[in-house]
Amino acid sequence: MNPNGIQIEGLMFEAGNSAFAPSSQGPRALTPELTEDDLALDRSLRPKMLEDYCGQEKVKESLSIMIQAAQARGENPDHVLFSGPPGLGKTTLATVVANELGSNIRTTSGPAIARTGDLAAILTNLEEGDVLFIDEIHRLNRMVEEVLYPALEDFALDIVVGKGPAARSIRLDLPRFTLVGATTRTGLLTGPLRDRFGIVFRLQYYTPEELTSIVCRSAAILDVQITQEGAFEIARRSRGTPRLANRMLKRVRDWAQVRGDGVIDGATAAEALDFFEVDSLGLDATDNRILEFLAVRFGGRPVGLSTLASALSEDPETLQDVYEPYLMQQGLMIRTPKGRQATVRAFEHLGIEPPEGV
Ligand code: ADP
Repeated sequence: MNPNGIQIEGLMFEAGNSAFAPSSQGPRALTPELTEDDLALDRSLRPKMLEDYCGQEKVKESLSIMIQAAQARGENPDHVLFSGPPGLGKTTLATVVANELGSNIRTTSGPAIARTGDLAAILTNLEEGDVLFIDEIHRLNRMVEEVLYPALEDFALDIVVGKGPAARSIRLDLPRFTLVGATTRTGLLTGPLRDRFGIVFRLQYYTPEELTSIVCRSAAILDVQITQEGAFEIARRSRGTPRLANRMLKRVRDWAQVRGDGVIDGATAAEALDFFEVDSLGLDATDNRILEFLAVRFGGRPVGLSTLASALSEDPETLQDVYEPYLMQQGLMIRTPKGRQATVRAFEHLGIEPPEGV
């Protein structure tokens, strides 16, 4: 019996629609994770083509070459993996790839594909040239992953029909498609899955200048009046993350409407963001709590992830995927083999004298 095969009684697959549902995690005011509120905002602000997509110049250039070359050859591009913290534009790029190719996109996520049958249903419903987007692809289970391998390499699906001695394996041809995977943690992808992607793109945090362009573009779409200084103030406090920049723009707009004259200038943006407890480095209350724990409670000594997570009543995965990358990128925290440690910059940020040896 083929271990990759899917044991089914008949050959009917149901497109189990939970597998196509958008993934959404617990809402938190200023975390870059997707909230219900973001869904509508994301839809209206999401760039459709590469030329509307701001920043990530290197990624855009490589994608454009890859797409043009594939189109000139009349083939589908290689399977592509985007990695990076939440809210940096991985889903957006997946839709941009499909739009540039003039293809349909089917969207699902690792946790939504619980059984091999779910994946079989998705694959057999694809059409020639489609883009299949799997968000959080590192959360696919092993059985499902094994069914995906021949689909990615040979565009084939191995299924096992019947049971016991009468069982036989059938290979179904699939339409040629392009898989776009997204992950917040490449390290959690199994080697064989990673190897099946032609290209892996690591998205970087955006510079304040890039985010300023994103804020200005979003303000124009939402019909919000904003000055360059106002956009820059929002940009520099958005943790290098477009989703946060857009969300803050919306909140600052409300604030400016109620407390000001509706126009967002530098001073209005600064006042509003102070009110929402987003500090000058773009750190929110939770980031500052993490730094305080490391610097004050643990006195700058190394702390293990699980200790830190339970001290903060946070989920270790959220700490690792959402908070730590930005704190490390800002030079406020380091990861050592012994644990997480606050840096001198963190002590400075908190206005505390660092102990000897930090
Ligand atoms: P991810 O999939 O990495 O979590 P998304 O692709 O959902 O992030 O991006 C979040 C939102 O940020 C999008 O709806 C889009 O409006 C905005 N966004 C992301 N990247 C860009 C970009 N490069 N230019 C303009 N807007 C962007």
